[in-house]
Amino acid sequence: MTTVIFPKMAVIGCGLIGSSVIRAARAAGVVGTVAVADASPEHRQAIVKLGYADLVTADVAEAVTDADLIVLAVPVLAMGPAAAEAASGLKGGAIVTDVGSVKGSVADALLAASPDHAFVIPGHPVAGSEQSGPDAGFADLFNRRWVILTPQDRTDTPYQDAVHRLTAFWTALGAQVECMDAGHHDLVLAVTSHLPHLIAYNIVGTAADMEEVTQAEVMKYSAGGFRDFTRIAASDPTMWRDVFVANKDAVLEILGRFTEDLQALSRAIRWGESDKLFDLFSRTRDIRRGIIAAGQETAEPNFGRDRNKP
Ligand code: NAP
Repeated sequence: MTTVIFPKMAVIGCGLIGSSVIRAARAAGVVGTVAVADASPEHRQAIVKLGYADLVTADVAEAVTDADLIVLAVPVLAMGPAAAEAASGLKGGAIVTDVGSVKGSVADALLAASPDHAFVIPGHPVAGSEQSGPDAGFADLFNRRWVILTPQDRTDTPYQDAVHRLTAFWTALGAQVECMDAGHHDLVLAVTSHLPHLIAYNIVGTAADMEEVTQAEVMKYSAGGFRDFTRIAASDPTMWRDVFVANKDAVLEILGRFTEDLQALSRAIRWGESDKLFDLFSRTRDIRRGIIAAGQETAEPNFGRDRNKP
């Protein structure tokens, strides 16, 4: 028997992630009523059509009124302004969380905007795809995925209880929850997610700019590794612009390390140091096998499901 954890949930920004949270929470039976606020009239229309929200509005304060859980699922730089719009409608004891891909600056913005009577618990489901908008969401997006929470450094019982309830919520949606420091999150994600996207954007841009290689050839011969880069480079421009602006320091730190390693590879190729190349390629193959063994190998773990089912 499922138990309702949050009688009312409000989701602000109902695109790929926000709509997936609603579908998954409905499927798990852990929320009562659901209110949505979204800035896009087209998305609001789509959400009404999908029929999984009890209230759909453009007014953030209206959506969060009486909500027990508020999930901010807007682009990273819109988190602070959205939290500020929500502030006047928040009831005492409401949990304010988010799904943003950057945690340090978002956590600061949520704390600055939220009243003391709300519990701010920033979060990031490490799950998603290059799709966006409410129609792209699906109920099992978080199944067997990690959700990282970056709670405040507070030991009081009401706050700890709020963290436990939010953990129980994500667990009911199929996710595994881990808590960590926001700065550490941003460094880890700079390596595992942000830098790979930057490389994909860069390599696709470079190929498109090369005059001696035509656009037609890029399309025609993209069956190799390049095709995977084009999928990543098709990710939402607003979302990723915000990630790089908001996680500037960690990305620049990792980019510096990456550039040094690339220089070393370049030297190994120039001087024919084949052992160095072979050793690195063997190590990286082991890493790939480890990812597969950990069950984290695909961006969309349940490919083939009906995306329009809640
Ligand atoms: P999305 O599909 O583009 O959805 C975002 C929605 O929020 C859109 O409908 C957008 O409307 C709306 N919106 C923007 N600003 C708003 C505001 N101030 N108030 C109310 N609604 C607003 O984006 P997403 O992929 O779900 O990403 C949402 C968040 O999840 C981001 O912070 C991202 O970093 C994080 N995240 C994404 C992924 C992923 O793979 N996509 C994975 C993990 C975490 P408009 O279209 O009109 O702007």
